[in-house]
Amino acid sequence: MEIAVLKEGLKRGKADKPPGELQYIRFREGFRSVERGTVVIGNRVIWGFPHIKRIFTLEKGLKRNMTGDMFYAEEKIDGFNIRIASVNGKIYAFSRGGFLDMFVTEKAREMKLERFFRDNPGMVLCGEMIGNTPYTEPADGFDVKLFVFDIDEGDGDYFPVEQRYNLLKRYGIESVPKLGRFRSDDYSGLRRLALVLNRGKKEGMVLKSADRQSAVKYVTPWADVDDIAKASGMLFDMPIGFYYQRVLRSAMFINDFGMDRDGYARKLGRAFYDGLIDAIRRAGDGEEIYADFEIRIKDKAVWNDVRRHMSKDVKIEEISRKEFDGRTRIRFRKIYKRTTKTLMAYAAGKGITD
Ligand code: ATP
Repeated sequence: MEIAVLKEGLKRGKADKPPGELQYIRFREGFRSVERGTVVIGNRVIWGFPHIKRIFTLEKGLKRNMTGDMFYAEEKIDGFNIRIASVNGKIYAFSRGGFLDMFVTEKAREMKLERFFRDNPGMVLCGEMIGNTPYTEPADGFDVKLFVFDIDEGDGDYFPVEQRYNLLKRYGIESVPKLGRFRSDDYSGLRRLALVLNRGKKEGMVLKSADRQSAVKYVTPWADVDDIAKASGMLFDMPIGFYYQRVLRSAMFINDFGMDRDGYARKLGRAFYDGLIDAIRRAGDGEEIYADFEIRIKDKAVWNDVRRHMSKDVKIEEISRKEFDGRTRIRFRKIYKRTTKTLMAYAAGKGITD
């Protein structure tokens, strides 16, 4: 990166220096050709992970947005995006927005990634984390999992798909589930796959050209409705576009695939009403609207870091703390302040002019 871009980014508030032990600069917004979330540590640059275009209709979406004659389909995992790199021989993990994530850093250091980074010190593992994390539903039967979906060669370019698969295999690192290789005009094969994913209650797929120069994401109506079901009880803490987008996406899929419209209408209705009416009842009884999370950490300082980076719109309440196996298991609650306050006020009879 040119030093002038870095300096100007800092000057114009596009980049900042987060406090903490590790000194680094992060791009809080995209600036010039620098992606949001890009991290600069000394003369090392860890490039931000770019947006992947979403398509709403399969065949035309592929024709218009993808290049190459072979596509690799991968499962789209619904966790949170993380980049893992080795800086001066130490492993660090960064969030999509470019913050050092101490929670994932601790987990990544237990994942036996040293051999990979010893042989490939300049590369960056890009992956999705799920499980007992501060941002995802607590897991059953495991703690956390990391699925690597791209490897940055060090300059912001990603490895071609096969090469990535081979590298990950060689180093025993878990890849996102592979769904197969398709000729770029194999629309019937890809349509079948989309339906299988929907039936299997998967989030969707990411299609990548063999050289990884183009990629698109395509999600299932099951995931759209499931997202709405999980978020309808926290209506005032979500951007309105969250719901609007999912209704639209699922409608296009249902229409394209000639699916059972009445069945989906019922599912969508339930998704909105069940969560929302439960939340209304709870608020009416004077209870807060919340979701519970669980993490297992070694270093207690990680908990402070987690809390520091939590959105100011949620109130964090520790529910329990237990020591075992050299770890601390912390269960905590995120209380959705806006929804709680608004629903309580309406339940108490508040009137508004709209
Ligand atoms: P955007 O990438 O446009 O910022 P977003 O952050 O809201 O969107 P999504 O719309 O869920 O995320 O989809 C893109 C994200 O999906 C990627 O950034 C990545 O974190 C995640 N992902 C999950 N599985 C894969 C995969 N197989 N290949 C690439 N990305 C994947």
